[in-house]
Amino acid sequence: MKRARDKAVDDGIRIRAIARLLAIGIAGSPDECWIWPRPWKGHRYGQLSVNKIKFYVHRLSYEHHHGPLLDGEEVCHSCDTPLCWNPRHLWAGTHAQNMADMADKGRHRVGMRWRGEDNANAKLTADNVKEIRKCKNSDRVEAKRYGVSRALIRKIRAGEVWKCAL
Ligand SMILES: [Zn+2]
Repeated sequence: MKRARDKAVDDGIRIRAIARLLAIGIAGSPDECWIWPRPWKGHRYGQLSVNKIKFYVHRLSYEHHHGPLLDGEEVCHSCDTPLCWNPRHLWAGTHAQNMADMADKGRHRVGMRWRGEDNANAKLTADNVKEIRKCKNSDRVEAKRYGVSRALIRKIRAGEVWKCAL
């Protein structure tokens, strides 16, 4: 079975894949995870197939709600729930973009398109997370610096949350 290279997929097939996503998936409230109801055995992420082409449901959902992904962009879950397809829990970005933008203005939220503003993890960006993992400050210092709990800093450093940014 082929894996969909997003751009190469025929529009008709893509439209059918999105129709299937919306027919099978059950959209919950804006804040909760929308768990894909038909996981495939042995696969972490929700998938569906149309004409023997496989699609990841989180990628489909992201593109349907937020527009096409750029080349090399990846869709990650701010909720760390692989079967979730709630578009508010999905963000996209590339490593290269982040680096270029960071160097550009020293801003922190660029290169990363944020869709999870109401999510508990949304106070931090992937760049913040990388910085937190790299630096040697205590959990307390980092928690204060970013205005988040020490428990969250601990979880980030232990790799329990924000696995996408590892
Ligand atoms: Zn979620």
